[in-house]
Amino acid sequence: MDAEKRLRELRALLQEHSHRYYVLDNPLISDGEYDLLFQELLALEEEYPELISKDSPSQRPGGAPLEKFEQVVHRVPMLSLENAFNAADLHSFEDRLHRFLNQETAAADQAVTLSYMAEPKIDGLAVELVYEQGRLLQGSTRGDGSRGEDITAQLQTIPSIPRILQSSAAQRLEIRGEVFMDRQALITLNQERLDNGEPLFANPRNAAAGSLRQLDPAITAKRSLKFLAYGIADPAQSPCSGQQELLAWLQNLGLPVNELARFCPTITDVINRFEQLAAERQAMAYEIDGMVVKVNNFALQHRLGNKARAPRWAIACKFPAIQATTRLLSVDFQVGRTGAVTPVALLEPVEVGGVTVSRATLHNRDEFERKDLRIGDTVLIQRAGDVIPEVVKAIIEHRNGREQPVSMPTHCPVCGHALLKEAGEAVTRCVNPHCPAQRLRALIHFCSRAGLDIEGLGKKSMEQLFDLSLVRDIPDIFTLQQSQLAGLPGWGAKSADNVIAAIEAAKHPPFGKFLAAIGIRFVGEITASLLEQRFPSLDDLMQATMEALLEIDGIGDQAAGSITEYFSDPDVRAMFERLHQAGVVPESVRPTPMDDQPLSGLVFLFTGTLTSLSRTEAKKLVKDQGGQIATTVTQKMTHLVAGEKAGSKLKKARELDKIILTEPEFLQILRQSP
Ligand code: NAD
Repeated sequence: MDAEKRLRELRALLQEHSHRYYVLDNPLISDGEYDLLFQELLALEEEYPELISKDSPSQRPGGAPLEKFEQVVHRVPMLSLENAFNAADLHSFEDRLHRFLNQETAAADQAVTLSYMAEPKIDGLAVELVYEQGRLLQGSTRGDGSRGEDITAQLQTIPSIPRILQSSAAQRLEIRGEVFMDRQALITLNQERLDNGEPLFANPRNAAAGSLRQLDPAITAKRSLKFLAYGIADPAQSPCSGQQELLAWLQNLGLPVNELARFCPTITDVINRFEQLAAERQAMAYEIDGMVVKVNNFALQHRLGNKARAPRWAIACKFPAIQATTRLLSVDFQVGRTGAVTPVALLEPVEVGGVTVSRATLHNRDEFERKDLRIGDTVLIQRAGDVIPEVVKAIIEHRNGREQPVSMPTHCPVCGHALLKEAGEAVTRCVNPHCPAQRLRALIHFCSRAGLDIEGLGKKSMEQLFDLSLVRDIPDIFTLQQSQLAGLPGWGAKSADNVIAAIEAAKHPPFGKFLAAIGIRFVGEITASLLEQRFPSLDDLMQATMEALLEIDGIGDQAAGSITEYFSDPDVRAMFERLHQAGVVPESVRPTPMDDQPLSGLVFLFTGTLTSLSRTEAKKLVKDQGGQIATTVTQKMTHLVAGEKAGSKLKKARELDKIILTEPEFLQILRQSP
């Protein structure tokens, strides 16, 4: 295709997507896909500079202001930023700066020393706040760079934006900064929108923009927006000589600034900081999509000046995209070991942040029904850190009418038993205790790391042994013979020997570990260790009454009921008898008190999703340092660690006036402990 034609096509495409993104706050493609198109446009324009037109998206930032708002003309244009994606791009950025500065300097026998500020690039939207004699006069969006929307009333609802500055030094100050929404606030908002049947916000930036650009400021006020200042329209309005000084000065005026901004003496320090932020971003309370790098010195910034769309003295170094769009091919319903039926989206494979994704969780029936996903839909998916990929929303605009609705099955896809959804529970369950899918999952769990960790009996081997009916329940594992294994497809004499030895070694597991492995509903690792501390042996636990169980702090009605019901089942008793005959005898390990440990005396409860480590790991870290774990909010609990999507436990802990920690604060406490 000839370049001119492709350029026209790219401009039209980018304009359409920019309009949807900036003006309607409802994008059809992910940022990564948009960036690819944009890079293609830049590359073509670089090759054919004569084809650059004034209306090209490469020549101006953002989208037109919405007509429903008064317009504000920015005295100094609000620009976009050029993009870098890796260390090589940052080195090229510095090379360009040197080239430009040396060209400009007549007597350039000495190279200029460049130093930088590196600031997290929060995924929000840029606003300008005009203060006169220390009073907030006007606030606006960036709009198309020259004209933005007057959103003064809306911005005044944001608690972190001061109406009056602590000093009124300058006549007029035009402060620039980012309005954004924390991850948690976005989750809560999207949940509400799901409940109300409203379209979901694809990312925090669209959510912040959509919340600010509301004619009724009362709506904005409800949206938990925050503000951080990062610049000034004209450095001459300040007494500062560089960006580092400016941030400190803004803070002294009472404006919040990002405490993660760092001065970097060299580009190597910038690159190191980028890698550090990339590693830490998942633990942050707000989403960042990269790091903004600015030449620190204002005199140099002035010399470098601006291009049409972006300044020459700054660049945004972007992290790999975590969202992508793809097609929903079908929905699979998986039966877990507790019978929970989870809908899983099967997707046309797509790369997200360096990983190919072809499956994504749809969580549960309520969530997938409310999202109204249909087979054949184009869907926006995302993965954050090591979290399982999820479907954010369907792009309804791409529907052609041939998409097929999906409904939750009424019967178990594996055993055919009727499914049950208890009132108030999100999960739909197969309640047939003999369901092969549940049995297999239970066996896989039993041998996995979370269970007895029997080396060589991973998911694949277990599926094989189950299909061949060599192992149908837990006791079967302990009666396996070497001769049964050796010779099976994929097995040799050696691997069979090893597995038999591993099984033998697993015959005397710690009692708590064993309890967590056998898969009693509501008995995870923590409850199991509480039971281990209270009951000396399996026999004692089997006799335990509901009352005795409820006496244990951390065990509630649900778990106690489930435990007594489990042990009263004759099939379960028969299973334990067989285990006993096979020589399986769990050993009780009573923990010794650890008063002198850093966290001894403290009781932690985790709620919501942790982003930088798994819950199991977090609990282990607490226990390693002598702390205890609670399973419900009680008076005994001392600290609640609230991750993403924290809900009722957080509320209750606040009511009880308990210490509430964010994930980074929790990690900080652990780091402080020797
Ligand atoms: P940008 O978001 O890449 O960079 C400029 C913005 O960075 C500023 O306006 C400001 O809001 C923000 N920023 C955050 N922290 C900052 C700091 N410390 N200092 C200075 N600025 C800071 O540029 P843009 O023009 O606003 O948007 C372009 C991006 O938007 C694209 O790269 C793309 O990812 C996305 N986009 C997506 C679609 C889509 O359809 N998905 C459409 C248009 C644009």
